[in-house]
Amino acid sequence: MSTWQAETAERNRRSLARLCKALPAIFPPAVLARALNRPFIAPTPRLAIDSYWRAHPLRADLLSRALAARSDAPKGWTWQLGSNRKHGLPITFRTPPAPYRERAYKRGPGFCCVCGQPVYRFGWHVDLWNAGANKNATWHCACVIAWEFWIAPSSQARLLRRLQARRCGQTGGRLWKDAEVDHRVPLFRVWSDHRDVPWPKLLDFWGLPNLQVVNRDAHVTKSVLEARDRRVTRSLNE
Ligand SMILES: [Zn+2]
Repeated sequence: MSTWQAETAERNRRSLARLCKALPAIFPPAVLARALNRPFIAPTPRLAIDSYWRAHPLRADLLSRALAARSDAPKGWTWQLGSNRKHGLPITFRTPPAPYRERAYKRGPGFCCVCGQPVYRFGWHVDLWNAGANKNATWHCACVIAWEFWIAPSSQARLLRRLQARRCGQTGGRLWKDAEVDHRVPLFRVWSDHRDVPWPKLLDFWGLPNLQVVNRDAHVTKSVLEARDRRVTRSLNE
């Protein structure tokens, strides 16, 4: 055994001991199974859950939108932009609308600021432990990953390519190395034409339903057409 292997084995032994000590009697089995099969074992239940969602961003995207559907938009809320950070309004239409992040509609500790649902132990979305909401948490672990995916879907380009069987979403041709992640309905158009779609349905524009991988040349053509449409829309509104 090399020194590196010996060190890894020792590190894993210590992590496993820590994990077992901290592990409650009830723990999501899929998370535990994954944690124990990793080359590096997560030393705490919380890190095991984080790592699980990090490995399954599309599952996190789906779950976060499903949780948001349980909350619905707060009464009187509309999607608005703002430059005053204190109000928690997004500065640009590129940021997914999240009413429960806004100061006026915050649900406070124990509730997720993305989906508005209660957060339980270890940032989990179900109260497996009958312990009630976790007052130290304002995000579900899954919603953190979903949020990261929504604001930077390009970071999951490999996963999305695989999902499309490596075919261009625009032309159906083979995806090249330089292919890019694209919003089918561009976000500026979501803001200009679909702003009144009820939340959380709006979130679908940031999630998987509105994402595709397209070859660079197809993307450039699409972007040029979009920019032209945008200019036309602007001049019509002026
Ligand atoms: Zn959440």
